[in-house]
Amino acid sequence: MDSTSKFSQDQATTFEIYQRHVNSGLARLLAFMGLDAEEVRAEGVYVWDSKGRKFIDFLGGYGVFNFGHRHPRIVQAVIEQLDAMPLSSKIMMNRKQAELAQKLAEITPKSIEKFFFCNSGTEAVEGALKIARLATGRKGVIYTEEGFHGKTAGSLSATGRKRYREPFEPLLTNFLEVPFGDASALEQACESANGEICAFIVEPIQGEGGIRVPPEGYLKDVREITRKAGVLLVLDEVQTGLGRTGKVFACEHEAVAPDLIVLGKALGGGVVPLASFGGTEQVWQKLEEDPLLHTSTFGGNPLACSAGVSAIEVLLKEKLAKRAEEIGSGFLSRLREICGGYRELIREVRGKGLMVGIDFADRDFAELFIASLIKAGILVAFALNAPQVVRLEPPLNTPEPVFEEVLSGVSQALSQVAQVISNYQGAEKYANL
Ligand code: PMP
Repeated sequence: MDSTSKFSQDQATTFEIYQRHVNSGLARLLAFMGLDAEEVRAEGVYVWDSKGRKFIDFLGGYGVFNFGHRHPRIVQAVIEQLDAMPLSSKIMMNRKQAELAQKLAEITPKSIEKFFFCNSGTEAVEGALKIARLATGRKGVIYTEEGFHGKTAGSLSATGRKRYREPFEPLLTNFLEVPFGDASALEQACESANGEICAFIVEPIQGEGGIRVPPEGYLKDVREITRKAGVLLVLDEVQTGLGRTGKVFACEHEAVAPDLIVLGKALGGGVVPLASFGGTEQVWQKLEEDPLLHTSTFGGNPLACSAGVSAIEVLLKEKLAKRAEEIGSGFLSRLREICGGYRELIREVRGKGLMVGIDFADRDFAELFIASLIKAGILVAFALNAPQVVRLEPPLNTPEPVFEEVLSGVSQALSQVAQVISNYQGAEKYANL
């Protein structure tokens, strides 16, 4: 070991260790946004850093913290399971997995009966696409432009952003891209593929694509088209699921039942990583004939499943989907009012429930806005496939006064951004004289 390249971890700041041993580019990006200290504690909608600063978490882990940080009921369930048996022997059944599967069967669309558990959204997407191939015997997958399904090879093949795809090509073959929100483009793609497509994978509302809400009736049309073409409909509700959009699942807005549903993020209650894909009896059939075709060492562990069971109980008991719907619509219209005063900066404010996006006219405007909000103690971030869109995805149980605080923070941040830009434009004019 070359001792000169090492340094005492006791003396190094987290930022320095990130630069040397995690990722220097990431460290610089976080510092640029004003996040140079590490997070140390969280509770409800708040996060504290090592400098003692308190932040309102209005990003909510982009869909992880629907129940806030460390919801007491979920934490208690996890502690009890930790004391009893956190990980599975893998050779015996575990009650928590059974309970979670049963609860999911109760709250997902009626036709979804069977569930497989894993640890992240991308893994759940991988599994769903494999099962779609297995169930149909076909290979092709249709996905949407700007859609996001994860960054492992299979999911990346269905993720619609060149920047993330190109460095890793060739990806999986027989993946076909169509515009999001355009049912006739899907119909044409199904027809031209001539019976070769196993699945169409789509988010009911695109999250990383920039909180893009499709035209009304899109999902219903998609259901009709896929059914006719014998193509399985895979709904990725990793970000929209568990109350976020004002329904327990976003597909309920159009009463659409998929063949496969993908869940993650909030499923672990904001306490333990957990993801899942569920399917109909028919889709599951081949997997039941050979149950070891798709497996996972940590998937379905009792610790994560205890968090999942408790998360669903909290979602239903605290009626959080309804709360997201009610609070969300008021919040969205107030936000539109405020942003309406900045037409030169903002193209659109959109969303459903508490999944909200502010679409800036320029990526730089979005970055300035984020930095300004962070400085004021409010955490938000841009969407991965649409960096000019800032998304707001607060915990669904965020107290009402916090929404007021955030609205006034947004208003101040926008006026600062407008000021910076007008100073800059003034300086540019001066420079051109
Ligand atoms: N699907 C959707 C809709 C997502 O938003 C994400 C993550 N943003 C994923 C899949 C991938 O999830 P993970 O990062 O847990 O792999």
